[in-house]
Amino acid sequence: MAIRAVHVPESADAAVARLAGGGWVMGGGTVVMPLVNSGAAPVTELVSLRRAGLGGVEVRDGAARIGAAATFTEVGAHPGLAFLRPALRTIASPTLRNQATVGGNLFVAQPYGDLAVCLLALEATCEIAGPDRRRDAPVADVLASGIGAGEVVVAVRVALPEPGTWHYHKAMRRRLNSAAIVTVASVTGVDGGVVASTRIALGGVAPRPVRAVSAERLMLGRPLTHEALTEAGEAARGDADPFDDAYASAWYRTRVLPVHLRRAFLP
Ligand SMILES: Cc1cc2nc3c(=O)[nH]c(=O)nc-3n(C[C@H](O)[C@H](O)[C@H](O)COP(=O)(O)OP(=O)(O)OC[C@H]3O[C@@H](n4cnc5c(N)ncnc54)[C@H](O)[C@@H]3O)c2cc1C
Repeated sequence: MAIRAVHVPESADAAVARLAGGGWVMGGGTVVMPLVNSGAAPVTELVSLRRAGLGGVEVRDGAARIGAAATFTEVGAHPGLAFLRPALRTIASPTLRNQATVGGNLFVAQPYGDLAVCLLALEATCEIAGPDRRRDAPVADVLASGIGAGEVVVAVRVALPEPGTWHYHKAMRRRLNSAAIVTVASVTGVDGGVVASTRIALGGVAPRPVRAVSAERLMLGRPLTHEALTEAGEAARGDADPFDDAYASAWYRTRVLPVHLRRAFLP
């Protein structure tokens, strides 16, 4: 379809009101615009969040609130979110990161969605504005089921991980600027030499980012050793539902998952 109008509302409420009349939300447009340009957009109107006041990052008291329209460059520049910089650097190119937004990353098809994998491991909460009300939802629910018609993600909130508990690894065909074969993000606390708490999220191995609950169960009470992590990676195959694409086959993704899960912890 050809686009007939691009609306640029100046608040989240105005964006929601505009969406009530139809249209497609656009954050940075790095996914939306190629579809528009190729004539494959499913709508004739866009609602850009660029001026809706949804940028910005606030970090205080061990927690962060990240505006849905904050770009990856903006997120990476905040000293309070330095732990995310290695992950952000694995996403696309600097030019794309100047445009791509946090909100958009929640809705892209795999094997994209690397920041969403991080937010899943961090158990982020999404703030959502809709026609009737504002609501909070766990990022896990948003990733699994999406949001309602006419709703917009306004921001995400996360508790910052304790020092030494954050782990991230993305396996790609190239060293940089390539989509995921496997992405692993985790917040894992070790006490007395064994894993006391762990959340492990995976990208690239299922239609949406998923928690590796089987691996999490297996790691509890065990040390972060090569052997335990390999077993956890093998167990994580049970949480995956891999697919074939231009980057790798489902078979290959399944095969290498244990290796990359282990590398997230023991590079
Ligand atoms: C060359 C290239 C390389 C890329 N590499 C990677 C990569 O390595 N890793 C990766 O994760 N991604 C990658 N991407 C995909 C994309 O750039 C990112 O996922 C980006 O975060 C998408 O954000 P955006 O703001 O540009 O989304 P948009 O294109 O604006 O929107 C994407 C989707 O999200 C919806 N949306 C956007 N914001 C909101 C909101 N606030 N509330 C509700 N819905 C919303 C839109 O309606 C649309 O369905 C790549 C893209 C390209 C073109």
